[in-house]
Amino acid sequence: MIALKTLTIRKAHNALVNGEYSALELAEAYLAEIEKKNKELNAYLEVFADVRGQAKEADKKIKDGKAGMLTGIPLAVKDNILIKGRRASAASKILEGYVAPYDATAIQKLKDAGAVFLGRTNCDEFAMGGSTENSAYGVTKNPHDTNRVAGGSSGGSAVAVAADLALAALGSDTGGSVRQPASFCGVVGFKPTYGAVSRSGLIAMGSSLDCIGPIAKTVEDAKLIFDCIRGKDALDSTSIELLTVNSKPPTKKLKIGIPWKFCIARSGIDTEVIQDFNASIEKLRDANAEIIDVELPNLQYALACYYIIMPAEASANLARFDGVKYGPRVSGSNGINDYFKTRALFGKEVRRRIILGTYVLSAGYYDAYYGKALAARSLIRADFEKAFDKVDIITVPTSPIPAWKIGEKEDPLSAYLADIFTVTANLAGIPAISIPSGKTKSGLPLGLQIMAGAGEDENLFNICIPLEAALLRKRD
Ligand code: GLN
Repeated sequence: MIALKTLTIRKAHNALVNGEYSALELAEAYLAEIEKKNKELNAYLEVFADVRGQAKEADKKIKDGKAGMLTGIPLAVKDNILIKGRRASAASKILEGYVAPYDATAIQKLKDAGAVFLGRTNCDEFAMGGSTENSAYGVTKNPHDTNRVAGGSSGGSAVAVAADLALAALGSDTGGSVRQPASFCGVVGFKPTYGAVSRSGLIAMGSSLDCIGPIAKTVEDAKLIFDCIRGKDALDSTSIELLTVNSKPPTKKLKIGIPWKFCIARSGIDTEVIQDFNASIEKLRDANAEIIDVELPNLQYALACYYIIMPAEASANLARFDGVKYGPRVSGSNGINDYFKTRALFGKEVRRRIILGTYVLSAGYYDAYYGKALAARSLIRADFEKAFDKVDIITVPTSPIPAWKIGEKEDPLSAYLADIFTVTANLAGIPAISIPSGKTKSGLPLGLQIMAGAGEDENLFNICIPLEAALLRKRD
């Protein structure tokens, strides 16, 4: 029996190269868990039929002494990241049956490393949402309380990792979709600096915000995946090569900035989230960090700004789904009717955002809404740049509330409000990670979000590995 609960990528790698078990046995162990739990949790939309074949390939690599850190590591992949020859639906009916004609660059890199793909995971349709309730294929349930949501939009990936249905996973993060489900499920989620991971092969939502990021059990595991998938890519002109050396040498005492006014002195934050945040700060202080109050005056505009820029970009990106080039086509009498009928395959939330996005881009409103949001985005970015002159990292809770009950947030605005702490990093293009920080009295996981300056991903990992240990420590 392989102890999956406490398994990490490093542990699995050591066991594989030392011959304690094979990649095939490891894959079998995960397939058995999936068989047991996926029916209830609905983390996977599809478990690949050739998992054993992939694992055997990895075993060959290991036997030939060619194994890297990720060889034979079983991963789950969000349903909006393309794997050649496999279906990808972005959890939408409009892409039902669509088969990816090429690999996303991140997937290609993981394939080269010998990773094993277990299957594709459920998400909110086109990554629009924070609960996976917007999936066209049913909700994903939180393994800590199956009456509650997993978070989203990468809910299936987070549940796969949290419930031992995969050792790590890929998600995508446009406004929090890797970090928030990670926090709801008690695992680690990392959103890289914008462009650090190629977007080629990621089904686009908001192109200036979208990032592929890892979900894993530890900060180190997230870093191992990130190190494999990062890098400049000719197929994505916005991709960049990050420095691997610290641009900022670590100061003697870690300086942690907290925008108190923004994150605590406001209404709508769950009292247990505030308590957990305060307790986390005390643990970081115990770990010899200096806590500094930072002013980010324009953060108050972040949510409004995100909910203009994201739908504007999404409405443009989703125009390509017209029944001609991708997925099914609802055929009727003539071309234009076919178009309308096919477009009706989009779910409610996606339609809402297309309409909103088209509206804010329309003549007469473009300057008033879209132009203003872009101006506010520059101010938010400048606020962060100024703050990072004073501090090494900035921390806020990942989510203002823990996982909510399935069906509880009927009103879309109340769901949008839950994105308050995560959208800022996407608007500013900076790296951010969610680390488990504690639990509510009823046992729901909570996460602490830590952000660093643009391009400081390496630094953020170096800082967070010891902080993760400090956060896990109990205070008396
Ligand atoms: N919850 C946010 C939204 O609904 C974020 C989505 C995402 O990051 N893909 O837009």
